Amino acid sequence: MAELLEVKRLFTRFHTEDGVVPAVQNVSFHVGHGESLGIVGESGCGKSVTCLSVMRLIPTPGVINADSVKLDGKELLDLSERKMQDVRGNEMAFIFQEPMTSFNPVFTIGYQLEEAIRLHQKLDKVRAREESISALKAVGIPRPEQVVDEYPHALSGGMRQRAMIAMAISCKPKLIFADEPTTALDVTIQAQILELLNELKKSLNTAIVYISHDLAVIAEMTERVLVMYCGYIVENADIDSLFKNPKHPYTVGLLNSKPDLKREDEKLKPIPGTVPNPLHLPKGCPYHPRCEHAMDICRERLPEVTTVSDDEGTEKPHQVRCWLYPENNTTREDTSK
Ligand code: SF4
Repeated sequence: MAELLEVKRLFTRFHTEDGVVPAVQNVSFHVGHGESLGIVGESGCGKSVTCLSVMRLIPTPGVINADSVKLDGKELLDLSERKMQDVRGNEMAFIFQEPMTSFNPVFTIGYQLEEAIRLHQKLDKVRAREESISALKAVGIPRPEQVVDEYPHALSGGMRQRAMIAMAISCKPKLIFADEPTTALDVTIQAQILELLNELKKSLNTAIVYISHDLAVIAEMTERVLVMYCGYIVENADIDSLFKNPKHPYTVGLLNSKPDLKREDEKLKPIPGTVPNPLHLPKGCPYHPRCEHAMDICRERLPEVTTVSDDEGTEKPHQVRCWLYPENNTTREDTSK
């Protein structure tokens, strides 16, 4: 079956007074129908900008270029802004980390849900209200008939996040981007929200892309992972391969710096150094100033994406962008676009 989302050679740049910030660099990936994909990396690595670019929600001075961004076979790059608005909400939705950035504080939850439903489903006011209540019910909000008339500030953080998920699922999208959906919540509420997303994924066969710096969330919730660094995808693997057999030194660094109760005798090993200033990325592999395996070629040339064989014997492709794996390095990519 064709993939639900196919992104080919996506670049997103921000033209600022200080120079051009290359936020997303030559990114290609896909998401299958009903699949859960994780995107991990440190702050500023391009995770959120990649997903916002797919939804064409990048504000000026951002500029998006891509060879292709297809959703269910439809080329999104060719759509007018009006048609793209229909796709957002009807077919794709975005769950933000902080629901107050999505809800307008001066309108009730119900008004905002009804507006979204009426816009996308062309329902009358009465039907839109019924749909709003049933969406709130679906995400486990108690007393949905009353909550629908409450303002966002009257709800707890967990309930607001549920209400935002209700807004995202109200039009039954095929794909949801969830950007750190639980970071602002306490641990017990986090677990409930993740469980809720899992149930919705199963019941609606919605594909979910989780954006997170939390490897525990990614391990729990996803089937496949993209690791991003300085705007590039540096590793792409199924979840078992990535955790058991990480290939890219940055992925190894991320895994070693994550607390693990099973290794209580071992100290955490933070990745040395800091993420470089995107206005002044180092030549060659952008990770080389922090990488203990850096070679001369790493300081000179950006490695290609290569498919590597997996020691786990899995058939699923495991891709990495690193000079340590030159064996299949046959495809030359034009990164100058
Ligand atoms: Fe390290 Fe070189 Fe691989 Fe970059 S390409 S991660 S510097 S070994």
